[in-house]
Amino acid sequence: MNQQVEQSRSWRLRWISEPLLNIFRRVTPRMSQTEREALDAGSVWWDGELFSGRPQWKKLRQLPAPHLSAEEQAFLDGSVDELCAMLNDWEITAEREDLPPEAWEFIKKNGFFSLIIPKSYGGLDYSALAHSAIVMKIATRSITAAVSVMVPNSLGPAKLLLEYGTEEQKNHYLPRLAAGEEVPCFALTSPHAGSDAGAIPDYGIVCRQDFQGEKDVLGMRLTWEKRYITLGPVATLLGLAFKLYDPDQLLSDEKDRGITLALIPTDTDGVNIGRRHNPLNLPFMTGPNSGTDVFVPLDWIIGGQERIGQGWRMLMECLADGRGISLPALSTGAGKLAARGIGAYARIRTQFKLPIGRFEGVEEALARIGGYTYMMDAARTLTATALDRGEKPSVISAIVKYHLTERMRTVVNDAMDVLGGAGICLGPRNIMGRAYQGIPISITVEGANILTRSMIIFGQGAIRSHPYVFKEMEAISEEDPELSLEKFDRALFGHLRFVMMNSVRSLFHALTSSLFIFAPGYSPARRYYQHLTRMSAAFALLTDAALMTLGGTLKRKESLSARLGDILSHLYLASAVLKRFEDQGSPKSDQPLLHWSLQYSLSEIQKAIDGLLQNFPLRPVAFLLRWMIFPLGRHFSPPSDKLGHQLAEQLLIPSNSRDRLTEGIYLPKDTNEAIARLDDALNKVIRADHAERKLRQGLRDYKADHRGLEGRLEVGIEKGIISEQDATLIREADAARTDVIRVDDFPNQSD
Ligand SMILES: Cc1cc2nc3c(=O)[nH]c(=O)nc-3n(C[C@H](O)[C@H](O)[C@H](O)COP(=O)(O)OP(=O)(O)OC[C@H]3O[C@@H](n4cnc5c(N)ncnc54)[C@H](O)[C@@H]3O)c2cc1C
Repeated sequence: MNQQVEQSRSWRLRWISEPLLNIFRRVTPRMSQTEREALDAGSVWWDGELFSGRPQWKKLRQLPAPHLSAEEQAFLDGSVDELCAMLNDWEITAEREDLPPEAWEFIKKNGFFSLIIPKSYGGLDYSALAHSAIVMKIATRSITAAVSVMVPNSLGPAKLLLEYGTEEQKNHYLPRLAAGEEVPCFALTSPHAGSDAGAIPDYGIVCRQDFQGEKDVLGMRLTWEKRYITLGPVATLLGLAFKLYDPDQLLSDEKDRGITLALIPTDTDGVNIGRRHNPLNLPFMTGPNSGTDVFVPLDWIIGGQERIGQGWRMLMECLADGRGISLPALSTGAGKLAARGIGAYARIRTQFKLPIGRFEGVEEALARIGGYTYMMDAARTLTATALDRGEKPSVISAIVKYHLTERMRTVVNDAMDVLGGAGICLGPRNIMGRAYQGIPISITVEGANILTRSMIIFGQGAIRSHPYVFKEMEAISEEDPELSLEKFDRALFGHLRFVMMNSVRSLFHALTSSLFIFAPGYSPARRYYQHLTRMSAAFALLTDAALMTLGGTLKRKESLSARLGDILSHLYLASAVLKRFEDQGSPKSDQPLLHWSLQYSLSEIQKAIDGLLQNFPLRPVAFLLRWMIFPLGRHFSPPSDKLGHQLAEQLLIPSNSRDRLTEGIYLPKDTNEAIARLDDALNKVIRADHAERKLRQGLRDYKADHRGLEGRLEVGIEKGIISEQDATLIREADAARTDVIRVDDFPNQSD
C-alpha cells in the first residue's frame, strides 16, 4: 500500500508538479528587491481569513471591544480638550497661517509628539486606539493641528528609532523627542520619485573626512532634494532616505548598498530647510529641503552600519502601522463632524416650509453621511485593536487608508451639498469648508489613492494573505531543486483542493441563498455573516481564477486588480461593522446603521464582481465564474430608500444612536462656536417643533403671514392656538435658527 502511494506521488511530482513548476518559474514576474521587501513587510491578520473563503468569525468576535485606559481617557478629556480650546481654526488658516505659539508650546510640552514613545524614555506610550482617538478629536477642531500632531507619531524618526535604532541613538533622541525638544520630520519623497519612492535619486557616498573637530571620520557625503515634507520647515531633526554607494569599498566589497535612512540635525552645515509649500490653504508646516555633498558620520544611520541598505523594508514595516492610524482617524473625524453638524443643520434649516433634511434628495446624502461614518468608525477601531495586539496588517492598513479617505471625500462632498451656500462661504461659522479643501491631502499622502486601490490592496494581499500563493512563490525561489519541487508540490495540490472547494461552495451557497452556512450571532447580524462567508468563497475563487489565467499580467491589469481589491476591502469593512454592532451590545436603535452598511457593502461587492467579470479577458472563464457565483442572477440590492430615510432621521434628532455615532469629536460648550451653536439650535428647534406646528396649522384661517413672527405669535396667543410658554419656545428656536443660517462676511479689501 505504502509503495503504491509512493509511486503515485513520484508520478505526480514528475508529470504534474515538475512541468508546472517550470511554467510557474517562467511566468512569475520577476520582483524587484523593493517590491519583495514591500510584500514581506507587516503581518497577515483578518485579511488571511477573508482570503480563505471560510472566515472564522469566532476569531473576530473574540477580539476585545475597543477600550481606552483610564489614563488615555483622562488625556483625551483633559489635555486634548485644552489644546482644542486653544485652537481657533479660522485664525489659524486665514489670519496667522500657522498654529499660535502657545498651541505649539502646549503640544510639545504635553507629550503630543510622544504618543508612541515608551514611558522609560519619557513618552506617553499610548495604545493605537488612543493615538487614533486623539488625532480624530483634534481633527474635528483643526485639521492643521491634527496633521502637525499625527506626523511625529506615525512614520517618522521616533517610530524608526524605536524599531531599529541603536541603544545610543534611542537614549539620545527619544527623551528629547518625548519632551518636545526636537521637532522631527521624515523625508522620502523627491521631485522625481513620488509614488515610486523606491526610485529616489538621492544618494550618499561613503568616504572619510574631518568632521566637527575630529580627524578622518568614516561617513558619507549626502546629496538630496526632497519636497512635501511635513513639519520640515520647523524641524530640528531630519529623517532622510537615500541610496548609499561605497565606490571605494571602504565598508565591504559591495559598492551599491541600497536605500538607507539617517537622522540629521537640521543645523548641520549644508542642510537647506525652512521654505514652505501652501497645502490648499491648510497651513500645516510642509516644505522642501535639500543638500549637496553634506558630510555626516556613518553613526547617524538609523540602526548604525548593520542597517545599511534596509531602509525600504524599515519604511514599509512602519508604514503598516502609521497608515492604519492617522488618516483613518482624520477621515472618521470629518465623518463624525458632518454627521453631527450637518444632521443638525438639515433639521434646523427649512425651505418650502419643511426642514431640508426631510426632502428625499437630502435624505439620500444624509444616509450616506451616517452610513459611511458608521463604517469608518468601525474600521478605524477594529484596525487599531489589531495594531494594539501586535499585528502589523499591511494589507488592511492600505484598505483603511484608501477606503476611509474615499468615504470622507464623499461624506464631506455630501455635507457641502446639504449646506448649500453656507458651505461655500468660508469663515468661522463654516464647519466644512476647510475639511473640503483638505480632502485631496489625505487622498494623496501615505500612498496616493489610485495607486493604493489599483496596485497595493489586492497586489499585496493576493501574495501575502492568500493561503497558498506565498508558499508557491517561496518554493519557486528555493535554491535546492529537490526541496523546491517538494514544497511546490505540497503547495500546488493544497491550492488545487482549495480551488475545488471554493468552486463547489460558491455554487452551492449561491443556489441555497447562503442558508446552510453556519453563522454566529442572532438576527439581525446572522444573515450578514452568512452572506459574507459566501462572498469570501466567491472572492477566493475569483482570486485564483485571475491568478491562474492572467498570472503575471494581472500586475498590469490594474482595473481588474482594483476590483478584486474592492471586494476584499468591503469584506473587511463589513466585518468591522458587524464587530462594532455586537461590541456595542447590538443596540436596536443602531440597526438601521447596521443594515445600511452591510447592504451597501454587499451590493458593492456584487458590483465589483460584475465589473470584474464583464472585463475579464478570457470570456469562457468569465462565463463559468458568473455561473458559479451568481447562478440565479444578482442577489444583493443597495440599501432601500426606506432604510435611507430611517438613517437620515437618526441624524436629524438628538438620540443615543446619534451620540454613539458622533462620539469622540470636540464639542465646545460655548454656543458662539459653530458646532456647539448647531447642537444648541437643534435642541431649541426640536423643543419648539410641536408649538410651531400648532401655530402654523392654527393660523391657516387668519392670514397672518405678513405680520412677522411677533405678530403671528400675538395672534396665536390671542386666538388660544398657543400658550405664552409655546411662544417663548418658538422665539428661542427662531433666534437660534437665524443665528445658525447666518454666514460670515468681511470688509471689502479692495475698497
Ligand atoms: C501635503 C503633503 C504632505 C506630505 N508629507 C510627506 C512627508 O512628510 N514625507 C514624505 O516623504 N512625503 C510626504 N508627502 C509625499 C506623498 O506621500 C506623495 O505625494 C505621494 O506618495 C504621491 O506622490 P506624488 O505626489 O509625487 O504623486 P505621483 O507619484 O506623481 O502620482 C500621481 C498620480 O498617479 C498615480 N499613480 C502613480 N503610480 C501609479 C501606478 N502604478 N498605478 C496607478 N496609479 C499610479 C497616483 O495614485 C497619483 O494619483 C506629502 C505629500 C503631500 C501632498
